[in-house]
Amino acid sequence: KKIIVIGAGILGASTAYHLSKSDVEVLLIDRKDKGQATDAAAGIVCPWLSQRRNKAWYQLAKGGARYYPELIKMLEEDGETDTGYKRVGTLSLHADPDKLEKMAERALKRRKEAPEIGEITILSPEETKKRFPPLSVEFGSVFVSGGARVNGRAMRDALLNGAKKNGVQIFQGNAALFHEGNKVSGVSVNGQTILADQIIITAGAWSNEILKPLGINFKVTPQKAQIIHLELPKTETADWPVVMPPTNQYILTFDDRVVVGATHEDEAGFDNRVTAGGIHDILSKALAVAPGLSEGSLLETRVGFRPFTPGFLPVIGPLPNFNNILVANGLGASGLTSGPYLGAELAKLALGKSTELDISNYDVSGAIE
Ligand code: FAD
Repeated sequence: KKIIVIGAGILGASTAYHLSKSDVEVLLIDRKDKGQATDAAAGIVCPWLSQRRNKAWYQLAKGGARYYPELIKMLEEDGETDTGYKRVGTLSLHADPDKLEKMAERALKRRKEAPEIGEITILSPEETKKRFPPLSVEFGSVFVSGGARVNGRAMRDALLNGAKKNGVQIFQGNAALFHEGNKVSGVSVNGQTILADQIIITAGAWSNEILKPLGINFKVTPQKAQIIHLELPKTETADWPVVMPPTNQYILTFDDRVVVGATHEDEAGFDNRVTAGGIHDILSKALAVAPGLSEGSLLETRVGFRPFTPGFLPVIGPLPNFNNILVANGLGASGLTSGPYLGAELAKLALGKSTELDISNYDVSGAIE
């Protein structure tokens, strides 16, 4: 059996990696678009404190966070150790002690179903600042020890390298479906036609363009995000926890950088420019929460397009009316968390195995017209 995967962000890379563990032939095609979400992503893996009520979304994000340690071990066995994944814990900030109590209660409730949350501790402003020195003194926090961060770029590359080692062929180019009416028999790429038994489309925000020739309007919209990387001179930041302020912004650190962001721009289309307004928005919010970052040097600003499907709910499954196409999309703002897990599930679907998630909760027909 021959399977082609279109799109090698976190989702396609994970799908190809998991397929590579079986005996099917796998080809992965990626166009390396500027603004690949995975390439720009921050890297927070901490879904449990979210106040979003959608159960299907939470099920997926929770499953994603739980799956990481297992996947990291599998990659290590394939010799891939550079993923930037680390359980550094998360500080969820608030100035109001009552709000912190409520947050901790919510986390405790969720821990019954998700022991991977780890320890839940309310910290005073002084204790909070001790764990993340650039913070202003006004915030206490709830510390959750199971929170992690991951470098999206490194994780994607580890999955791709692992896949390659297990025989996946990777091509760079623009993939288009090769079809006659409702029968899709392969993919055209770089002037070449490659036939396949099955095609998996994990092309993120760009997926509508692939499905249009089939007469399908696939409702994925790009949400532009700008995100800033800073460097704090002579500061050891590798083990600092992820910071989630009461706003929709965040601050996290890696060995060599501090990442602050991000913007949420719904009207920008695929405009991949770094803008004055974007930088102003991010830095004014970040420096209000963490004034100690003002001495940081600016390393770079990345831009990515979060793929959103209707209802902000991801979709996964067969494309209705086509018997050999699978689609997964809509990972939105939490795809680094859920992407590796959803890719493993997608590989199971492609191989005719049963999935852990009830995929009828993520029906692809909800995203097409
Ligand atoms: P993408 O990573 O966008 O990959 C799609 C790929 O398909 C691209 O490489 C593109 O070139 C390719 N492609 C498209 N069309 C074609 C074609 N015709 N032929 C060949 N290739 C094609 N999530 C978290 O969990 N935690 C976070 O902290 C977090 N922070 C984020 C911060 C930012 C700034 C952004 C932008 C996102 C963040 N996310 C985060 C969300 C996460 O990054 C995304 O949900 C996830 O990366 C989406 O992955 P994807 O594989 O679906 O799409």
